[in-house]
Amino acid sequence: MQETKRFVVKLPPEGAPSIRRSLNALTNVHSVKIELEKGDVIEFSSTSPSYALLKIAVLSPTSVIRERKNGMEREVPDIFPELIEGIVTCSNKNCITAQPKEPTKPKFKVVSIKPPKIQCFYCGRYIEQASLISQLS
Ligand SMILES: [Zn+2]
Repeated sequence: MQETKRFVVKLPPEGAPSIRRSLNALTNVHSVKIELEKGDVIEFSSTSPSYALLKIAVLSPTSVIRERKNGMEREVPDIFPELIEGIVTCSNKNCITAQPKEPTKPKFKVVSIKPPKIQCFYCGRYIEQASLISQLS
């Protein structure tokens, strides 16, 4: 059983509507549950929050993301040891995930949320903000 994590996100006012839509779309796929929406503040919980957090950090870099744990809020840790699968593609053409014959489902280690950076589980290539923006927008 994975632990449910809770987050409080303060979005810039202009970014709030699109991020809210984006999080709502993740409800089923990534077990994201929006618990509160008040103005430009959103609270959500999830057992696998990395994709939602990456998406917020990529699409709305000035947002403030905090984790709520035991009634306390803290900055989202730099190291976020979670794997995300099948969402982003690896930019390394020689990567096993890019092979046309027996493609392997892309899998990435989340290196950091802010700035957004992930690393291919198979070839080790880092996928940074610019590539994430084009893939997650
Ligand atoms: Zn790769």
